[in-house]
Amino acid sequence: MDCIFCKIASNQIPSEKIYEDDYTLAFRDLSPVSPEHILVIPKQHTDNIYECESDVLIYMHNALKKVVDKLGVKDDGFRVVFNTNKNGGQTVGHLHMHVLAGRLLQWPPG
Ligand code: AMP
Repeated sequence: MDCIFCKIASNQIPSEKIYEDDYTLAFRDLSPVSPEHILVIPKQHTDNIYECESDVLIYMHNALKKVVDKLGVKDDGFRVVFNTNKNGGQTVGHLHMHVLAGRLLQWPPG
């Protein structure tokens, strides 16, 4: 399968890594929409948050906490987004969690 995030997970495509363990990788988004914009992905391919096994989310939650601690944004706050399929605005078909921080984020999203 030709998946850009699988290639990032296997170091075929470079990324600015923030955190890594056996199951997950967190790296900076190429086109950030906030001062801190990190993507957390499972290393093993799964399409989205509906299709994935629940244990993947446990690993991703652990990685999220590592990222938030590393960025130091726990108290100021952050937003987690899982864009899913067409109407959700998903453009890369490999499960990823956006972690947005570093400015006041508006609600509702566009
Ligand atoms: P989504 O639109 O929710 O599927 O998010 C995909 C995200 O991946 C976008 O925010 C892109 O900027 C980001 N992205 C695409 N290619 C790369 C890459 N090679 N390295 C880092 N981020 C990327």
